[in-house]
Amino acid sequence: MTTPKADAVRTRFAPSPTGVLHLGSVRTALFSWLYARHCAGQFVLRIEDTDRARSTQENVDAILDGMQWLGLDYDEGPFFQTRRMDRYAEVIDEWLRDDKAYYCYCSRERLDALREKQLSSGERVRYDGRCRELADPPETASRVVRFRNPAAGQVVVNDIVRGRVTFENEQLDDLIIARSDGSPTYNFVVVVDDFDMGITHVVRGDDHLNNTPRQVNMIAALGAEPPAYGHLPMILGADGSKLSKRHGAVDIREYRSAGYLPAAMLNYLARLGWSHGDQEIFSIDQMIELFDVKDVNQSASTFNPQKLLWLNQQHIIAAPAPTLGAALAPFLVAEGVNVSDGPPLEAVVEAFRQRSETLADMAKSATYCFRDELDLDPDAAKRHLRPVAQAPLEATRDALANLEAWDVDGIEAALRAVADRLELSLGKIGQPLRVAVTGTSVSPPIDVTLQLAGRDRTLARIDAALAYIADRKAAAGQ
Ligand code: GLU
Repeated sequence: MTTPKADAVRTRFAPSPTGVLHLGSVRTALFSWLYARHCAGQFVLRIEDTDRARSTQENVDAILDGMQWLGLDYDEGPFFQTRRMDRYAEVIDEWLRDDKAYYCYCSRERLDALREKQLSSGERVRYDGRCRELADPPETASRVVRFRNPAAGQVVVNDIVRGRVTFENEQLDDLIIARSDGSPTYNFVVVVDDFDMGITHVVRGDDHLNNTPRQVNMIAALGAEPPAYGHLPMILGADGSKLSKRHGAVDIREYRSAGYLPAAMLNYLARLGWSHGDQEIFSIDQMIELFDVKDVNQSASTFNPQKLLWLNQQHIIAAPAPTLGAALAPFLVAEGVNVSDGPPLEAVVEAFRQRSETLADMAKSATYCFRDELDLDPDAAKRHLRPVAQAPLEATRDALANLEAWDVDGIEAALRAVADRLELSLGKIGQPLRVAVTGTSVSPPIDVTLQLAGRDRTLARIDAALAYIADRKAAAGQ
């Protein structure tokens, strides 16, 4: 860890690798990252892996991969809490020595009985402080360490999103900070980390709001001022309950493999809780310029997969061709094609970007540009590869075979000349040709379609279509 500049904003994303990288966590990461970038500050990644039973390496990898894919780069980290155990032990020793913490010897049975009693008399369930001032501790090996929370007064949190929130110390009990096996507990390690890592702004989900007063008290015990807090409202599914698998994919990897662009994901997630006028489409640079935690909405927002899809297409339309081409390549590979056996990917994305909602869609529609064999859609073939298409296809084949340069203008002029000669509309010529070359009745403009398929594939497919028509005629006895 470096010593941060005194005035630099430092935010952090602190995921627990106990589950997949969820859309809600990505939004938290995004808001922390955007704020750090907006302030020309620093962004720290901390993996909160103290729950060893539920943390997995696979989840850690998914977090790191996801961050990288999304371009949420961090200036420091990843830090792992499990590698900082010595530091936590050091603070616990200091606090015990300074009387900021104490050993508690209460047995499980006593605590259970206390809880029962409090529940039955309608009191708030809390530790009663029995070991706070023990004159002579019992001879037992089993003891935990508790933080000596202030008994009275208030903790006031001026939350950037929620406004002023007040907590009574009376309501907070003395939190266990080390279990009987010595392992430190969650709220305590977060405090030590936020302090050591010089975090100035904690941006996190509002499920952590109730932890905040305890953390503020412990930060004071470290002799520091608390960071600023911004607690983000929840993301809900369409039915109003907390966003979960029931509402569709929540694992960021599923969006990646379905062909969503990182820029679209970030744009969509930013709009869940943040807005700038009624603008919907933002580039990452615009978000960095405009985002401020104080503009985050207090109320929960609703996840809308249709809007995400729409935004994805908007970003596909707007992305620089080289970036989009590079992003398309793995999707073509997944379709089983050799990407070097076809037109440049930049030309492919230019032709398809207006008509594809995802990269997976785009790759599916573009396979005809890369493959010799063709999947002929039987319905399209039946409709468009009919005997009447034979003469136009033959004439087109000749015209295309004799074209000097295989470019869009030349192809267009050749098709127009054939149409004029046969006194047909361009559409009448184009549709059978489209089915012949792409196997389907939908594709980019016909000249672009053929240009991308290349001359050899175009001619071979017209031949195959003519053979199909001939078979059809023979079968019909014509
Ligand atoms: N590790 C916590 C979580 O994944 C975040 C804690 C925090 O941001 O303070 O929910």
